[in-house]
Amino acid sequence: MSTSPPVVIIGGGLAGLAAAVGLSSRGVTCRVLESRQKLGGRASSFIDPTNGEELDNCQHVSMGCCTNFAHFMQTIGAERLFRREKSLTFLGTTGHATVMKAAPLPAPLHLFPSMASLHWLSLSERMRLLYGLSSLLRTSSSRLRGVRLSDWLTQHYQTPRICSGFWHLVLVSALSESLDRIDTSYARKVLLDGFARNRTGWEVLVPTESLTRLNDEIASDFLSGRGVVIDRSAPIEKLTLEQQLISHITTRSGEEILAEDVIVAIPPYRLNSLLDASGIDQTCWPDLSQIETAPIASVHLWFDRPLTSMPNAVLVDRVSQWMFNRSTGETEPGDPWYCQVVISASRDIESADQNAIVNQVADELRQTWPEARDAQLLRGRLVIERRAVFSVTPGIDQLRPTQQSPIGNLQLAGDWTQTGWPATMEGAVRSGYLAAENVLRRRGVEATLLQPDLPSVWLSRLAFPQ
Ligand SMILES: Cc1cc2nc3c(=O)[nH]c(=O)nc-3n(C[C@H](O)[C@H](O)[C@H](O)COP(=O)(O)OP(=O)(O)OC[C@H]3O[C@@H](n4cnc5c(N)ncnc54)[C@H](O)[C@@H]3O)c2cc1C
Repeated sequence: MSTSPPVVIIGGGLAGLAAAVGLSSRGVTCRVLESRQKLGGRASSFIDPTNGEELDNCQHVSMGCCTNFAHFMQTIGAERLFRREKSLTFLGTTGHATVMKAAPLPAPLHLFPSMASLHWLSLSERMRLLYGLSSLLRTSSSRLRGVRLSDWLTQHYQTPRICSGFWHLVLVSALSESLDRIDTSYARKVLLDGFARNRTGWEVLVPTESLTRLNDEIASDFLSGRGVVIDRSAPIEKLTLEQQLISHITTRSGEEILAEDVIVAIPPYRLNSLLDASGIDQTCWPDLSQIETAPIASVHLWFDRPLTSMPNAVLVDRVSQWMFNRSTGETEPGDPWYCQVVISASRDIESADQNAIVNQVADELRQTWPEARDAQLLRGRLVIERRAVFSVTPGIDQLRPTQQSPIGNLQLAGDWTQTGWPATMEGAVRSGYLAAENVLRRRGVEATLLQPDLPSVWLSRLAFPQ
């Protein structure tokens, strides 16, 4: 049996890393056991076997309202490696652009002029949209919990065109689910936190370095500097329960590690099998097998010339949803122009012909920027993460467990645990901080690691239940 720092963290995704950051900031040493060779979990990069290039599994972005993720990045010294977008370009199929940016008005009015100019919706559709938005924001989350968003939208006169031209556009990207599978309280959360509480909540933060650089290299350098032990390629196969506490954990290679406190920061389907393998009675746990997942696809494209100088764009009424220009940094003349197109809730794509999808997306981009219509696609690659996020299906909150599990020295972490947030890097970091707070409390240390939300401005507090 090997001895170890007092806290063992299973899973080196953002949740596990945030727990390690939180604990080590209060002088508690810990050991992170990650099954893969790299840290970062779902927010990481891979080496493209065709040319050895490092590619992010999918473009990840954060938002101004993601205060805990920002705090995590600031703590590990990586906050400067993000570009803050203060405007977003929406491109309709006619090529006409609507640029969304904050007007000099207090929240929630700051985005009103941009919303009023969504040119692909008629004036009456925009009026109905504003009615729908204000109805949603004026209803408290508790009344929306468990309500299917598509039903709610129909009841509030949101036509299919308004749904595809706004609700789908914003929410399917933010929640990675289709409108008929979203719990309406989560739709409200995105719109309240992102668009209505504070002028900067909606701003998009785009990493300027690879996800592996941020979440593997920089995070592990920081944690190692604080004495955190990190073991890669160390999958955990079993937790042993003695007298209602986890006594030790066993790796696949057979190492048995003593543990005073354990934080398990792995996805629910993996936790389910780990608990089964450990023979732990789960009758007083939420049924994790009922937590569903949704896929996200990213199409990586290399053209022989730039299609646009825009850093990114939201594409309306197309298969492609977001385009991220990945050639904005230093490039040599003659370098291929590289971009990534993200397609959330991509169930239709899973069964489609992969080459056909790559070609369709490339064609959509060429049609969007007709001045580059002759650009040649040099290479394309479709990456589908089938279990990218947990689905925010109606009633999901009843399935999300708290970080404190029914076993005293076992904490759960992961974007899917109870944080109130959808599956995001912010949710993952929050869960890690909350799990670390529980461990510290068990050791007699009262510490607040969770960071406050952006302040809600007076007009928003007055108009909408917070
Ligand atoms: C394609 C895609 C696009 C996304 N886009 C965005 C975005 O733009 N913005 C955003 O905020 N979020 C985005 N997300 C969501 C975000 O990546 C996740 O919410 C977040 O990374 C989850 O972190 P986590 O630590 O909870 O889980 P994970 O990242 O899944 O980490 C779990 C870790 O546990 C390890 N593990 C599993 N089993 C074991 C075991 N038995 N022993 C040891 N280790 C184990 C895994 O290898 C993994 O490293 C996206 C996700 C995907 C997949």
